[in-house]
Amino acid sequence: MKSRNIRILLILAVLVCAGIIATQVYWVRSAYVLNEERFQLNVSIALRNAAESLMHAQGIQSNEPTRVEQLSTSCFAVHVNAPVPKGLLEAQLSSALAAQHVAADFQYELSANTATSPISYAGYIQMNGNSRAPEKLHDLPVQPSGHQYIGICFPQRASFLRSRMLPWAGSSLLLLIAIGFLGYLLFLNFQERSLVEVQKDFVANMTHEFKTPLASIRLGADVLKNPEITGQPQRLLSYATIISNSAMHLTSQVDRILQMSKAESEGLQLNRTDFVWQDLLRAELPAYAQLAAAGEGSVSLQLATVPIHFKGDKEHLKSAIFNLVDNGLKYSLAPPRVHISLQQEGKQIILKVRDEGIGIDKASQRHLFERFFRVHTGNVHDVKGFGIGLNYVRIIVRAHGGDVKCDSQLGKGSTFTVILPLS
Ligand code: ADP
Repeated sequence: MKSRNIRILLILAVLVCAGIIATQVYWVRSAYVLNEERFQLNVSIALRNAAESLMHAQGIQSNEPTRVEQLSTSCFAVHVNAPVPKGLLEAQLSSALAAQHVAADFQYELSANTATSPISYAGYIQMNGNSRAPEKLHDLPVQPSGHQYIGICFPQRASFLRSRMLPWAGSSLLLLIAIGFLGYLLFLNFQERSLVEVQKDFVANMTHEFKTPLASIRLGADVLKNPEITGQPQRLLSYATIISNSAMHLTSQVDRILQMSKAESEGLQLNRTDFVWQDLLRAELPAYAQLAAAGEGSVSLQLATVPIHFKGDKEHLKSAIFNLVDNGLKYSLAPPRVHISLQQEGKQIILKVRDEGIGIDKASQRHLFERFFRVHTGNVHDVKGFGIGLNYVRIIVRAHGGDVKCDSQLGKGSTFTVILPLS
């Protein structure tokens, strides 16, 4: 599937998930409000039933409907037109609330109908069967003489309502977990797809990389097969050189791939020896110059005068610097110019490979050292490569305790800085 379609599908999937989560939040909130309303209704019914039972027990018939007042979110009051015996009140309240499935702790108090001592008695009923001293309740309504009020409060109302929400919360949690799993699977799938893309790119690059030297070798060999060529030593030499250079190029590319896969499968084995950085770079300069000569370019060296001694894997470090120089030459318009500078700053060795080439955009700079990464040029393979060189450089430099970074400006050039700790 095209990546644009995948992106659209991904956006749709995210929107659907966001919609499901929003709906779920809405339902949970609505369920909570409904639960609150149901709680108030159940308590009102329970209080009315309790008050009517109490009057009935005293043989009092009232033609007035029993009125329940809500004093606050968790406190209620009900009017009883009869004397209320203490033992009977607790039992009636408990059974009326249980019948309405209100299994929450409650505190009750009975108005004494005198101004000096407004409460005749109070109690705190816990659902776990333990008893507690009652606290100060909501003020009961002012009572007309001869009337009594039962006040009842639910101090644990919020947690009781929350406990009733558990099935809702559980189902929402399961849904969130399912969405999380789906997201993770999607992420794995994308990761796999991008790996496949990377591998496809790698195979395409490798085919291009190998095609040109192989064609040169075939061409050169065809010419050498011609018996007439033996009489032309100059042409013989130039075709032999083409074949040799192409074979060398192929070998170096194969070596690069082998080095990388070996480092990956066996772990990087460093063969550390003592050397002086200036000597290494001076010895390598002819190889750089030969590389630059193909594009009529140049490589310059600017080295610190004080010898910089180092203990490291000379071969790997040589290949790493070669990669940087090679890139500087490859990614420049002709004639390419690469400048290498080496200096010591405190306890660090600073080696810079600067070019005046095409530069790298900011977004690509972030991925530069990732394996198989190549700056996107559409499907144009104008400069050949596998996208493993810089990753190799970073592996080698880090194995020596250092790091490598890139500063680049599109169209102006790039500077790769290798920082190594002095041994
Ligand atoms: P490659 O074999 O493709 O050169 P590298 O890992 O060496 O692989 O480089 C990765 C990518 O980084 C290259 O494809 C190129 O787009 C970009 N790049 C590396 N060095 C430079 C440079 N000096 N100037 C501009 N672009 C560069």
